[in-house]
Amino acid sequence: MPIGGLQKTSLIDYPGKISLVIFIAGCNLKCPYCHNQILIKGDFTPYKENTIINLLKERINFTQGVVISGGEPTLYNKLEELCLKIKNLGYPIKLDTNGTNPDKIEKLLKKKLIDYLAMDIKTAPNLYAPIFQEKAEPKKIIESIKLIKTAQIPYEFRTTCSKKIINGDIIEKIAQLIAGANLYALQLFNAKEPLNPEFFKDIRKNYDKKDLLNFKSIAEKTVKKCIIR
Ligand code: SF4
Repeated sequence: MPIGGLQKTSLIDYPGKISLVIFIAGCNLKCPYCHNQILIKGDFTPYKENTIINLLKERINFTQGVVISGGEPTLYNKLEELCLKIKNLGYPIKLDTNGTNPDKIEKLLKKKLIDYLAMDIKTAPNLYAPIFQEKAEPKKIIESIKLIKTAQIPYEFRTTCSKKIINGDIIEKIAQLIAGANLYALQLFNAKEPLNPEFFKDIRKNYDKKDLLNFKSIAEKTVKKCIIR
């Protein structure tokens, strides 16, 4: 697994836990607002897996959970092996995913290798191409949503809200797709150094908190809880 980044202590990435976050390099999407360019472009010195495992052994009395983020961790078959090593140390695992690999998510769930799932929903599934993916695979996004909603573990869905990508109708479509979901988080697009600045160049004003409150009220009609981060 190409481990491209490490945050030894985070208070915000794993709800309710002091976590250690590892960032897996490589992604199959090309979100214009992505801030993980180093991971996407492979411009890093990878961490050895043993380094991470030893660190987790040392921090057993401090760290309460491990977040596997990316990039997109589900691109790799060795993800299961890594999860197993971490679970064998006694840590709960939160997985951050873009939801494009439902088969991998299903395997991890069946083997009880993850304890919390956070899935980004970029837009309505039929609109992923061409902005996020050359070829859209809406079925896979929908499949992942179904799997996560029925998994017996805590989860959240998240959407980054940028003009040109998200509007009230799209939020409504997403909210209907995840109807009944325990948690849906909306976050503002961060205009600082996105992967594709050209994509955003004709936007004069980004959404603000008021716009997100409006989206929240739309989503709240179908999901159990919607928050703004
Ligand atoms: S899914 Fe995440 S890591 Fe991949 S391009 Fe989008 S924002 Fe970046």
